Amino acid sequence: MAEIVVIGGGIGGLAAALSISRQGHRVMVVERADRFAEIGAGIQIAPNGIYALERLGLGEAVRASAVLMDELRFMDGVTGEHVVSMPLTEEYRRRFRNPYAVVHRAELHSLLLNECAASDMIRLRVSGTAVGYDSSRDSVTVMLDNGVRITGDAVIGADGINSAIRRQLVGDGEPRVSGITIYRAIVRMERVPSELRSTKAVTWWAGPGCHFVHYPIARGSYLNLAASIDDRAPEAFAGVPASREHVLRQFAVLGETAQRLLQLGEDWRSWVLVDRDPVDSWSDGRVVLLGDAAHPMLHYAAQGACQALEDAVFLGDLLNCPSPDFPGRFEQFCQNRRKRTARIQTLARESVRLWHPSGDAAKARNSALSSLTPTELHDYVAWMHSAPASWHVPAGT
Ligand SMILES: Cc1cc2nc3c(=O)[nH]c(=O)nc-3n(C[C@H](O)[C@H](O)[C@H](O)COP(=O)(O)OP(=O)(O)OC[C@H]3O[C@@H](n4cnc5c(N)ncnc54)[C@H](O)[C@@H]3O)c2cc1C
Repeated sequence: MAEIVVIGGGIGGLAAALSISRQGHRVMVVERADRFAEIGAGIQIAPNGIYALERLGLGEAVRASAVLMDELRFMDGVTGEHVVSMPLTEEYRRRFRNPYAVVHRAELHSLLLNECAASDMIRLRVSGTAVGYDSSRDSVTVMLDNGVRITGDAVIGADGINSAIRRQLVGDGEPRVSGITIYRAIVRMERVPSELRSTKAVTWWAGPGCHFVHYPIARGSYLNLAASIDDRAPEAFAGVPASREHVLRQFAVLGETAQRLLQLGEDWRSWVLVDRDPVDSWSDGRVVLLGDAAHPMLHYAAQGACQALEDAVFLGDLLNCPSPDFPGRFEQFCQNRRKRTARIQTLARESVRLWHPSGDAAKARNSALSSLTPTELHDYVAWMHSAPASWHVPAGT
């Protein structure tokens, strides 16, 4: 049995703790905040993410708190024209073996946290900020900012996009500022006029240099609103309050229906989005990164958390023996995960080019998209929404 330290108690870190502890290893999760919690509202979980949650034993619980979507609906945000919908019903669920769900972020995080708290193989520690690590041949020590040192057989950096573990391990500086600001709010569903409810759809309104997405969360009792604009924001910020008037001004180019929905938003908050370029490897001996620390992506493929969950399950599979060869297994983990995660990082960046054109380019996009059949649309996402083929690993060494 090994002792493993996980830095960061977000979705990725908690999922990793579960998956690794189930291989018989002891895990300590060290979280910077003074409690384990998730902020933010809705999160979309494609079938590959549901599959990973099932592997963690949480499939049923997630389905119970999720809203299962019937379509991804793409609208021209200026003209109001319905361009195309990708159906997510029988054929999609059969093909990808799971539904496409939306969940409240805090609910997903609580499910993972409760499962970790119930395990006698997992210890949870708050108010611990990692600042770096020190490796030797047989162990690795994490340094916290208060001088505490925690030693284990291996360390997993699941400390998000500004990862301290990555700073030392990869050393690629600050994340890239995308120049896109996102405004988010949630609205109680009873405040949404019934003709605008679309309770089983994720809906995109694509406009020039901007787009607006909404979907129901929390078993349909809230509508999640997220509106993004290319405003060339020069530096990152997170969770800054924004007035409704400001949001409406930013998205004034969108048509009437989108405006009516934006009008409903209260307590808007804004973030400047950041990501990083893919790297080939994110392990260093007994230390490895996972989730956003390893392959942070813009959220436009709705896959960051899904990829963190996949990472967690696969890493657990790789540590399937009492004394794993950590450097070898971690290198294997990166080799296996890098192509898929890099492809999604790239897709997420490029999707803005599909969503944000204006004029003739927008018309050409609409015409191309509207000619696609449901099967062609499913083919387009198949590589991403299917659980990866290479989950299973040889017996431990
Ligand atoms: C607007 C938006 C919408 C999104 N929508 C979706 C979606 O629909 N579907 C989807 O799959 N993904 C989505 N994502 C992406 C998803 O939220 C992230 O990819 C996912 O949360 C990453 O999880 P993580 O555990 O790797 O990192 P994080 O969630 O960032 O967790 C990192 C944890 O580490 C802690 N920490 C940080 N530094 C330290 C330190 N030095 N020491 C100790 N602890 C530390 C933090 O406090 C935090 O708890 C979205 C992201 C955004 C921004």
